[in-house]
Amino acid sequence: MTLSRRDFLVSTTTAAAGTTVGASSAAPARPTLVAQAGAVAPRGFTPGDPALKYELVVAGGDVLDPSQRLRGKRDIGIKYGQIAAIAPSIPADRSGQRIDATGKLVTPGLIDLHTHLCPHLGIGLPADELVPITCTTTAVSAGDAGWQTWGAFRHLALPHSRTRLFAFVHIASIGLAGGLAPGEMLNIDYANVDGAAKVVAENPDTVLGVKVRITDSIVGQNGLEPLRRAIKAAELAGKGVRVMCHIGAAPGNLSDLLDLLRPGDILTHAYSGAGNNTVQNGKLLPAALAAKQRGVIIDVGHGGGSFDFTVCEPAMQQGMAPDTISSDIHSVSINTPGYPTLPWVMSKFLALGMSLEDVVAKATVAPARVIGRVPGLGTLQVGAPADLAIMELVDGAVELVDTRNNKRHGAKKLVPVLTIRGGRPFGRPPLPTPFVF
Ligand SMILES: [Zn+2]
Repeated sequence: MTLSRRDFLVSTTTAAAGTTVGASSAAPARPTLVAQAGAVAPRGFTPGDPALKYELVVAGGDVLDPSQRLRGKRDIGIKYGQIAAIAPSIPADRSGQRIDATGKLVTPGLIDLHTHLCPHLGIGLPADELVPITCTTTAVSAGDAGWQTWGAFRHLALPHSRTRLFAFVHIASIGLAGGLAPGEMLNIDYANVDGAAKVVAENPDTVLGVKVRITDSIVGQNGLEPLRRAIKAAELAGKGVRVMCHIGAAPGNLSDLLDLLRPGDILTHAYSGAGNNTVQNGKLLPAALAAKQRGVIIDVGHGGGSFDFTVCEPAMQQGMAPDTISSDIHSVSINTPGYPTLPWVMSKFLALGMSLEDVVAKATVAPARVIGRVPGLGTLQVGAPADLAIMELVDGAVELVDTRNNKRHGAKKLVPVLTIRGGRPFGRPPLPTPFVF
């Protein structure tokens, strides 16, 4: 089965017209990055009903929802796991539990497009345990499982996680079960197109596409063949199936790799300084800019060795800003000085001059649209999942380190306070059910 680029575009542009994630005025014909997720529709209550009572109200926070261009002091009413109201004030007699968020920033729950939160495989960590430092309510496993190890993700990680999980299945049948080394693509026979396509096609609720890591030490003599097979598996599995391609000291000419990526595919570690970077001799590679302009999603994937300020700064200045900000948090990276929790990585982009609204958009609604599975995800629209991040935007000098020991100084940082998933705060006893006023 073959799939043309046009087919892929059609399949990824069917919803949410007007989405401008990563849009470039220089490329008016470029596609959106949006998969079909359906309309937001409240279930079990009528918004605006004056008798409506809320199970939980997050009161008085500085609410920021880029999807609605909303910023201001608001109360958020939650019912049946959904956002039920956003109003200047919700009376106390209409709320069961109240959380005072005065002085705190309240955003949609953070969404991390590149993580390793499958504790049964390789470098994975348990998602829920990390929530106090991540404020992340939705996370995407970036190839922890291959088709041979998929059961560990599907049957062990997924049902035991309150954090909403999605996955890219690795083109290597063993995924990252061997950890970061030895490279899972040293033996090309592990790159099984049919196996990866089968997992993608069998798990459309959870699997977004196919992951591949293209680094010299990981692919050995196999060059770009693992990427070619990942693309083949994605095409075989159906329309709109993405490839997430990791770069960092990739073999050969990086432009050859970039030219293979299709609109809607994801380039992660886009600002890696590990060698063979997207910026060479101070210049953004034309093939990198062209990838961005045709709709390849530019993802940060900070990790333990994949984010370099001296690559990111010129790349952004020359037209390759990130579409999504992600952490690449795993058991190795979290113990490095770059400390890639998502709020900390977001703070680095504040220090680079990106607005708070943009930073939050690229860690909420933008990755939600890439995921494209849940109506309203990454927003605080009425009827959306009641996933919230409550953070403190702390003023004051902060030193931020990348993965190559370059330092930058910022004036603000985001500090997690409390995280709510489906209307239930992490770390607090659940409300009695059914809730009685
Ligand atoms: Zn990773």
